[in-house]
Amino acid sequence: MTYLANPARYDQTGSRPMEFRRCGNSGLQLPAISLGLWHNFGGVDVFENYRAILQTAFDNGVTHFDLANNYGPPPGSAEENFGVIMKKDFIPYRDELVISTKAGYLMWPGPYGDWGSKKYLVSSLDQSLKRMGLDYVDIFYHHRPDPNTPLEETMAALDLIVRQGKALYVGISNYQAEEAEKAIAILNRLGTPCLIHQPKYSMFERWVEGGLLDVLGREGVGCIPFSPLAQGLLTDKYLKGIPSDSRASKAHGFLQTSQVTPEVIVKLEKLNAIALERGQSLAQMALAWLLKDARVTSVLIGASRVSQLLDSLDCLKNKNFSQEELTKIEEILK
Ligand code: NDP
Repeated sequence: MTYLANPARYDQTGSRPMEFRRCGNSGLQLPAISLGLWHNFGGVDVFENYRAILQTAFDNGVTHFDLANNYGPPPGSAEENFGVIMKKDFIPYRDELVISTKAGYLMWPGPYGDWGSKKYLVSSLDQSLKRMGLDYVDIFYHHRPDPNTPLEETMAALDLIVRQGKALYVGISNYQAEEAEKAIAILNRLGTPCLIHQPKYSMFERWVEGGLLDVLGREGVGCIPFSPLAQGLLTDKYLKGIPSDSRASKAHGFLQTSQVTPEVIVKLEKLNAIALERGQSLAQMALAWLLKDARVTSVLIGASRVSQLLDSLDCLKNKNFSQEELTKIEEILK
């Protein structure tokens, strides 16, 4: 069946109005919730399920989809599958979408398929564009810092890619505060400003508060936290054991059962109680808690089914926290 996007997807008076937030000092606005294709969109996953997730996302104003060369498994398959759906469903809406991809982790054997050389970044993006059937991506990221390649070379590769018209904007991911500051300065010098930084950030992972957010705020660079639900831990799903269809129970999932410890469960139970008092699910509270910081442009969620996506989108209904709630949350996270 031909997909027709929900005509009310940008309607601010509907039941789930999407909020758009400016990305740093740039001209680009991103939805407060973006969808990532790291898990659940690969060759091992079910086409009609992930197609429905993508359609539901767009129907609700999620205009930003995040990929990387290696997402799958197998690596590359998430981009291939996204390419199929792009062709089937989203071609008429290409100009309404912000599509990102990345390179920086191992993608192919030999010295040119990993890390941060110009050789790797340029060829990897060419491969990604082919897999997705796109002429350009909106954002291209260097996925992780490379200690053995001069930062100037990696940033020059990003600048080149924009000048070649293969990406509109560039970003960095997993860079610590000091190296991010250097990368941002080099990109400014080259005339291709850094649009955005993608760090791991959630109630359980708060390293960005130790300097990175200050750098991004000062430099006018957006921030899009990944794994904002700590891969599903910050939801109510693990409160009564490990469900057999959860990421923690999957062999290829990056969440290990060993991370679901009794100490973590105690914290989750306490956080869940606060969320319920606020009239939210724990997932919604965890996302709203990140979005209360104006330096956070968008939160980059994952979802294994449509119901999760809809639940997470409803976090926007209550983003305000009282000082008392914030203090209680800090006590629990301590
Ligand atoms: P999340 O922390 O949002 O975890 C997503 C998982 O949580 C889902 O697959 C699902 O797990 C569970 N979940 C989601 N919503 C709900 C809900 N409302 N209720 C109950 N459970 C829920 O994010 P991800 O770890 O998936 O990362 C998101 C994106 O971030 C990635 O797709 C990728 O784009 C990006 N990323 C970037 C990285 C980088 O290095 N730059 C690294 C990692 C991710 P289940 O499968 O158990 O149902």
